[in-house]
Amino acid sequence: MIDDVTARLTRAWALSYLDPLASSALARGLAEDDSNPTVVRGEASLLVALAEVRVGDATAANEALAQARDRLPPAEQPRLAMLCNEVHAILLRRTGRYVESQALQATIDARGDPGMTALDRFIAHNSRAITNKLLGQVDSSLRHFYAAADAAEATGLPGPRITALANLGGQHQVLHNLEDARQHSEQALAAAQTAHVLPALLAAAVNLVVLYEAAGEARRAREMVEYITHTGHAWVDAALPRYGLALAIGHLAVGEFEEAERYIDQGAVGAIGDGDGVNQWAWLRARCLMHRGQVEAARQLCDETLDAARQAQLAEQPNDLLQLLRTAADAHEAAGDTAGALRMLRRAQAQYEQLVGRSARARYIALQIRHQVAHTERERDGALRLNESLQAQIATTHMLHSQLQEQAVRDPLTGLHNRRHLFDMAPGLLELARRNVRPLCVALIDLDHFKLLNDTFGHQAGDTVLQRFANLLLQVLRRSDVVCRYGGEEFVAVMPDIDVEGADAVLCRLQGEYQAQTTTTTTGVRRLPTCSFSAGIAIFPKDGHSLEQMLLRADRALYRAKGLGRARIEKAPGTDFSVLA
Ligand code: GH3
Ligand code: MG
Ligand code: MG
Repeated sequence: MIDDVTARLTRAWALSYLDPLASSALARGLAEDDSNPTVVRGEASLLVALAEVRVGDATAANEALAQARDRLPPAEQPRLAMLCNEVHAILLRRTGRYVESQALQATIDARGDPGMTALDRFIAHNSRAITNKLLGQVDSSLRHFYAAADAAEATGLPGPRITALANLGGQHQVLHNLEDARQHSEQALAAAQTAHVLPALLAAAVNLVVLYEAAGEARRAREMVEYITHTGHAWVDAALPRYGLALAIGHLAVGEFEEAERYIDQGAVGAIGDGDGVNQWAWLRARCLMHRGQVEAARQLCDETLDAARQAQLAEQPNDLLQLLRTAADAHEAAGDTAGALRMLRRAQAQYEQLVGRSARARYIALQIRHQVAHTERERDGALRLNESLQAQIATTHMLHSQLQEQAVRDPLTGLHNRRHLFDMAPGLLELARRNVRPLCVALIDLDHFKLLNDTFGHQAGDTVLQRFANLLLQVLRRSDVVCRYGGEEFVAVMPDIDVEGADAVLCRLQGEYQAQTTTTTTGVRRLPTCSFSAGIAIFPKDGHSLEQMLLRADRALYRAKGLGRARIEKAPGTDFSVLA
């Protein structure tokens, strides 16, 4: 029983855009059966409301909507309650309250997604597209029509699919983008043929007659008329008030004036809504009048219609206004009024230019949307590969990051740490020395007469000496010592756990190794002279408690070493910080 109810609800949803009357009848049965659960009856009422509003029965739709709202409290049924609001927005729009309709849609959107299905999304986008269109918001309208088509595709249902394609075609037609209009309308026709839905099939075919004629394909327009009258034989008579003018266009396109006139007279112009095809009727009628030689009547009809259209500001198909202006120009010319003809042609030209502009814009948006869709698909396809490459990228980034960090504390020429590293490390080493009550030495080393070496043997040779000296430093000093290139040919070594004698001994050994090394160093054919360095040493805590203090003291000692003839190591003189500490 429950399964049966669920199946019937599903069927009613599937029919909602394919055959609203059938959907309404099916749903009404479910809504009125009080043995059904309240939620089911609420959903069924909602379906009735949706179908009735689409059929155009506002009263029935309103009643059903009120029932649906009673049965579907938002707190318990957020999705269905949202759909009630969607139907309400459609109702507002159908009764001409466009702005209110759009405001309600905005409120719905602001509340977020309560778990929408593809069909829900189709309903929402399709409705927003039409509301935007009626409010003249062309771009957003087109985008919603495309989103609706996307959602419709995802439903797998023919009703939404045909509706979406037909609407997309219709919107491009309004925008005078005949190529896209034709493509979507042909797809709508094919989908309707597959699903055997006669009303949708004929609607699409009728659109195509107008499109083919506007594109200058008279023969195809006429063939489509043949197809319509042949396929829909029983139906055509009933549909004539609605579609008669389109059939007339097909006949007129190939010069069949009598057949065209027959259909023109049967069109219920002025009673269908949407500007009611008055312009279309007028230009068709005027053309037939001219064919009969009733030039004056044709001119009068055109002028009167143009005046009326101007006053009423009807939202007509822009192409019909263009056709009417061109017909008016012809009629004026035939009546011998060249000034009037020129006036009409100018207006026609302005209208045409406007249409071309719109058409270009529509094509641009269509391309943009197609591009986005293709891009999203490619992204979806690449998602797995992306995941893998993302992992690899993260690893690379980590590596680059640590490389960069390392580079930031290294001197590129010698590979020694730089000044920044020294200032990063020294506080910790000093703290450790203080806590363990151990000495610590800071030595400032400066190579002697380096400028002279550069000047005599070249900068390259200087570089080599710097690199070799750096390697020597690493060899001679302990691994736990922090050694850095402090400046051009100046180096600093922070040596924990060593007193002044120990430091002096290490630096003397370094001096010996350096001198031995440089005497064996050749640059090209030339042997370097014996090189030396001078150094100043400061000892923690005697000479200071911070790196800055110690460096200052070591620099003074270095200065003295230079003054005393270079190639020597001097201890910091003066204040004993250990007494103060
Ligand atoms: P002193 O014995 O008084 O220290 O004399 P000095 O020539 O070594 O001292 P000075 O400070 O006048 O010159 C240092 C020279 O070191 C000058 C500069 O061109 C050179 N120098 C600095 N950085 C580099 C480097 O990266 N490569 C080379 N080849 N030379 C450098
Ligand atoms: Mg120097
Ligand atoms: Mg020097």
